[in-house]
Amino acid sequence: MSHAELLQRHRQVMPSWLSLYYDDPIELVRGTGRRVTDGEGREYLDFFGGLLATMVGHDIPEITAAIREQAGRLLHSSTLYMIRNQVELAERIARRSGIADARVFFVNSGTEAVEAALLLATQQRRSHQVLALRGSYHGRSFGTVAATGIRGWSATALSPLAVTYVHSGYRYRSPFRHLDDAGFVAACAEELRTILETSTAGDVACLLAEPVQGAGGFATPPEGFFPAMKEILDEYGILLVSDEVQSGWGRTGRSFFAMNGFGVVPDAITFAKGLGNGVAIGGVVASASLMDCLTANSISTAGGNPLATAAGVATVDYLLDHDLQTNADKVGEHLMRGLRAIDSPLIGEVRGMGLMIGVELVLPGTREPAVAATGAVLEAARERGLLIGRGGLLGNVLRVTPPMTVTVAEADEALSVLRDSLSAVHLAMKEDN
Ligand code: PMP
Repeated sequence: MSHAELLQRHRQVMPSWLSLYYDDPIELVRGTGRRVTDGEGREYLDFFGGLLATMVGHDIPEITAAIREQAGRLLHSSTLYMIRNQVELAERIARRSGIADARVFFVNSGTEAVEAALLLATQQRRSHQVLALRGSYHGRSFGTVAATGIRGWSATALSPLAVTYVHSGYRYRSPFRHLDDAGFVAACAEELRTILETSTAGDVACLLAEPVQGAGGFATPPEGFFPAMKEILDEYGILLVSDEVQSGWGRTGRSFFAMNGFGVVPDAITFAKGLGNGVAIGGVVASASLMDCLTANSISTAGGNPLATAAGVATVDYLLDHDLQTNADKVGEHLMRGLRAIDSPLIGEVRGMGLMIGVELVLPGTREPAVAATGAVLEAARERGLLIGRGGLLGNVLRVTPPMTVTVAEADEALSVLRDSLSAVHLAMKEDN
């Protein structure tokens, strides 16, 4: 069946708000390493990894074998029974979280992971007041949408939480952008303190924060940002929940969980996406005192099921055995340097960390978000055989985030496509004027 036919059927049965990339949306049917093939036989270099879930690449033999082996024995038992894969995965995560006496609870998605962390933080602090960062994305459920600071993802303002937004450290469009790093961090910290003193009832449960904002366009704060925020949170006894659904597992190149790379140990870390390399899994890791603050039963029937945790163990072992964090650091730096060297008046800023790189596009000579041009570059890159993502508060950021096994040669191939795509789109814009 062609893409056009499938699209017609898709539109008949899927929600209108479930948006698809590209003027002519595609179906991906096969993949190996960093290459995927669409339903009409076209091959692409995959630099979006199924929205960062395909963390170590497609069809990795070790992971496929682990899933097959488990699928051939037992798919499901429920958490009423011990699950060996789950215990083994929890041990690996707890050990690398930096959190003392850590406990892990598994669910099926990032949304549920953040919901679980919010339940713990609000229960322990006996407060439904939560701080979130501007430009954040935390999920699609009632509670997580309430803490999502991007207009385009805020489907409702009804909320079980009282959320107050604080500065995210995203500098490019900040009123503090003219300050140097130390001044910028001090201004953000002062704003946090003022908000706490004037816009909340004081007894806030937690700050929910992505170390590098995913949907927000890979906005990355300066080094001192999280230590300064944490110092103030500690003064008030407010918990820090690091949402690492996108930034975990070494993707940022310098630490297993990104918040630890900023020199900060959070009270809880939420994770999902990459852990199963595409198999649905999520969870939260927190100290025993926070995790065990619930006074009633809580359960996720399929959370951390034998199949998903088999994929999780195999994925974590693969990335540790192949030192993919170092690869993310090395190839990430190469990509960042290459993107910064592209001479295009459409590029306002190239930012990020490791293999989370955002390219914010602006109208030439201005800071105006180049929203249409961003869609056009995404399209032009696809035509040239490269899949990337899109994000940012206004949808004007290209997201370049390949699986962590990416090679320097593949990075060079992507850089060449992006250079050509930016140049073609800029030329077309000039012709239109
Ligand atoms: N938190 C972050 C930081 C995310 O990027 C996402 C997904 N984009 C979520 C939570 C929600 O994850 P899921 O889509 O698996 O529910």
